[in-house]
Amino acid sequence: MLTDCSTHEETGTHVGDCHDTGDEAHVAEASSYLNPRMSRAQMLQSLGSGAALVLTAGALRPDAAHAAPRSLAAEPATGAAEAGYVCLIVLDGGRPDYITKNLSALPNLASLLRRSRWYNRAWVGDLMSITPPGHAVIGTGSLPKNDGGIVNWDWGIHSTGKISPTTQAVENYQNGWVFNLMKESGTPTLAGVIRKKYPNEPVIAGSGAHFHAAGPLGGPDASWIFSYQRSSGYWEPFTLGPQPVPSTLLNDRSLRVKLPSSNHSTVPLTYDPLPLGQQDSLVVDFAIKALQTHRPRAMMINLPEVDAVGHWSGKWYTEEATVYRSFDRSLGRLIDAYKAQGIYDKTLFVITADHGMVQSKNRVIDRVAVEDQIRTDLGQKSIILTNGGGSAGPTMTAIWLKNPANNAHMAHAIFGQHYDNVSAVFFMNRDNGGHTYEMAGVEQASADLVKTYEYLLSTDAGPTGPDIAILLRENARNSGMPEMPGRHGGADWGSQHVTLILSGPGVKTGTSNAPARLVDIAPTIERFMGMTPEARDGLVLADAFQRPYSPDAGIQQQSDAEMNVYVNALITRAQHDVALARQGLLPNTVPADEQPPIHWKRRLAVTAAGVGVLGGASAGLAKAVAAVRRQESDLNWEE
Ligand SMILES: [Zn+2]
Ligand SMILES: [Zn+2]
Repeated sequence: MLTDCSTHEETGTHVGDCHDTGDEAHVAEASSYLNPRMSRAQMLQSLGSGAALVLTAGALRPDAAHAAPRSLAAEPATGAAEAGYVCLIVLDGGRPDYITKNLSALPNLASLLRRSRWYNRAWVGDLMSITPPGHAVIGTGSLPKNDGGIVNWDWGIHSTGKISPTTQAVENYQNGWVFNLMKESGTPTLAGVIRKKYPNEPVIAGSGAHFHAAGPLGGPDASWIFSYQRSSGYWEPFTLGPQPVPSTLLNDRSLRVKLPSSNHSTVPLTYDPLPLGQQDSLVVDFAIKALQTHRPRAMMINLPEVDAVGHWSGKWYTEEATVYRSFDRSLGRLIDAYKAQGIYDKTLFVITADHGMVQSKNRVIDRVAVEDQIRTDLGQKSIILTNGGGSAGPTMTAIWLKNPANNAHMAHAIFGQHYDNVSAVFFMNRDNGGHTYEMAGVEQASADLVKTYEYLLSTDAGPTGPDIAILLRENARNSGMPEMPGRHGGADWGSQHVTLILSGPGVKTGTSNAPARLVDIAPTIERFMGMTPEARDGLVLADAFQRPYSPDAGIQQQSDAEMNVYVNALITRAQHDVALARQGLLPNTVPADEQPPIHWKRRLAVTAAGVGVLGGASAGLAKAVAAVRRQESDLNWEE
């Protein structure tokens, strides 16, 4: 099992796939990169979409109803409350291009976007880019090193030489372990800050199969947290954590469904138990019932199916489109429900994602070879953990050694092997109780990329951070579990680039190119709700406000200058790698532990066929872009 995705407790297996369609976006990226006539700005903008399609600044025209500022003169720029309620939706693994590619079929989302702030270059901004850390960062506004050390599914503990309990097991929420971890770190939480202002009104968190998302998102301070599981032939809600979900909701027959024998998709039932769209739709049904019966100040929900399809689908973009059409209908119902409660105009809607997704069938680092190298050098029992969460791995390799005194030596030795698809190797210097990452080596990279990696790793620089971090090139993954080519988890742009949409009272509409991070979401919500942000690391996205609190603007400006360098460096690395891969200059091999060796003649034939497929995909993309332009969807598109 592996990276992130839905873990089902009865099988302990993981969810998560994909295919050639992934290359479609990258063909366009590569051609942009290779086109010398394109300006740097155009090039960056085109890549900013992660899919060669970009919503441009003038594209999202303010909707008249929201464009008129309410009592502008009456409210001084002191961070006055704009929103009384928040509805936060995390599309798990929601790449922005899932929306941009499908927008003409998503009327409710398209309508919402016209009265939204869309962050074109939003990114995770920390490591690892997987579900539990992502939701903990969203739910706290603190980086992994400051939110309890949730850097991964699990991690190595040097004092015991053992692996930590795992965020992948439901019992570690039911026994309070995950919640205590966050609580003992002293990190403020979004739920806690809101409940401090509104002590008698609930803050609700929830998910479908992804209890490991709902738990860290609600954290120790949510009023109660729901999640879904298989039970006696049904897919039904249950209470996650110590605070009971109201029994009226748990017992509501309309909020559970009979498990089917097929989900009519290429995603195995193990990973999505219902027909595509239904699992997420049920989560929204639950949220609507909770809204009607409890009117929460904050609703924080995770929708798992986007991630399951990204990992496992044999028809990647096609099946994502199905899930998004269903989400669009759910969003319409949810908005109607807020209107029926009379609080729609007071509610801030935030739609985001915990990480992105890349398709990586063959571009791997041979993780077994790396482990063999370590064991040969340091001994058979020298590794506490590699990657965590199971047998496959994400888009970076995280290693915890028994003896961190070996970190520097081993990281340099690993880099010296120049394994396929490695971008850089770092190690943690734990001397004198410190936690700082140092680089052992980097392949063909700019000084900016090195700074970017240093920043990303600094977000994990605490006791739980990996001893050795191997960051991979774009669209590469750890070997293992080849049947699941959809991956995320590392510093690659495909994993880092996420959806971020803000809509509601006081929101300045239009596209922002600010490099907003997950950690900035909580403080931004807090400011919109008129609270003093308590987040440890995030900042208020002042550019989302019609009337920003002026100190926020300066802070954001300063941070943006730094974060833009990082985002640009990741995009440039992605462009380079995609271009190199296209030219056949990056290894595209399957290691021995995944499948038997393929004769070189057959491999050549497969490669030739692949080139044909890519050409076709490229033509298809051009057609799709033209079609979108013809639809006059109020959104401009650029290649
Ligand atoms: Zn995942
Ligand atoms: Zn996720």
